[in-house]
Amino acid sequence: MARIGFVGLGNMGLPMARNLLKAGHEVTGFDLNAAQARALGDAGGQVATSAQEAAQAGDIVVTMLPSGREVSALYLGDDGLLAVAGPGTLFIDSSTIDVETARKVATAAQDAGQRMLDAPVSGGVGGAEAGTLTFMVGGADGDFTEARPLLEVMGKTIVHAGGPGNGQAAKICNNMILGISMIGVSEAFVLAEKLGLDHQKLFDISSTASGQCWSLTTYCPVPGPVPTSPANRDYQAGFTAAMMLKDLKLAQDAATHTDAATPLGALAAQTYGLFVGGGQGGVDFSGIIRFLRGHA
Ligand code: NAD
Repeated sequence: MARIGFVGLGNMGLPMARNLLKAGHEVTGFDLNAAQARALGDAGGQVATSAQEAAQAGDIVVTMLPSGREVSALYLGDDGLLAVAGPGTLFIDSSTIDVETARKVATAAQDAGQRMLDAPVSGGVGGAEAGTLTFMVGGADGDFTEARPLLEVMGKTIVHAGGPGNGQAAKICNNMILGISMIGVSEAFVLAEKLGLDHQKLFDISSTASGQCWSLTTYCPVPGPVPTSPANRDYQAGFTAAMMLKDLKLAQDAATHTDAATPLGALAAQTYGLFVGGGQGGVDFSGIIRFLRGHA
């Protein structure tokens, strides 16, 4: 059984850490929010008094933080996790952050004699609770092989995407497809409404024709055709529009840095920006269809 330090016990981190405990691992956790840390204690984990103490208690350290800013602040510097942890500690950062920061921290880890994987997830809070997340992992082969059994406790699909930062690259590319396709499917339903074409008819045709995609067949943005989609529960998230906007902005930052042409990614980011700016950040991202209807 592994000794694991876990920093960031929020909506995602806490259920992930609980699954590690259930599998018999020793978990020492820390969160700035004391109530979240106490919840780990209630589940049988050890509660550390600082992120540094949690990192020192683990041979493997998992972090699940809001953004690249927190990851840089926590990992780097004289009292950063890379400096204070035992030599050769394997760090797994599962936060969704920008590729540049992920690569910068991975280089700093190597310089400090530590090992580092970026391993962002998809699957949301439901997937974190059920232990069915998808992990997209960047880093060295040997570190991936060592981390894999632990990732399998928290997830179902574990993919090694390449070297440092490639896990984050996979995550933002996937979510750029998702944001664009959700807007495309939503626009088609809004146009169908104007043309007097029934939702179910469009679904029956497009779900078996060339318009087929996940945003249509699994996460349909109108109520009815896919009973499990958030459209059937007034667009309760799911995956919030604010999270989608965060990932689309990361994709746009990366596109700017690499000079990649992503005109539809840029439009998707703008569209979600307007939706979230209108106070809809907590709504499921498929609720974008209501915004499009309102802009006829
Ligand atoms: P969250 O805000 O619920 O959790 C983040 C936690 O980190 C908070 O509890 C916060 O107190 C803690 N934290 C921040 N700075 C800290 C520090 N310096 N030391 C210790 N703790 C600190 O966010 P979340 O929903 O759990 O998401 C975490 C990451 O996972 C994000 O990067 C997000 O983009 C990504 N993600 C989230 C989802 C989702 O559906 N929620 C899905 C996929 C990926």
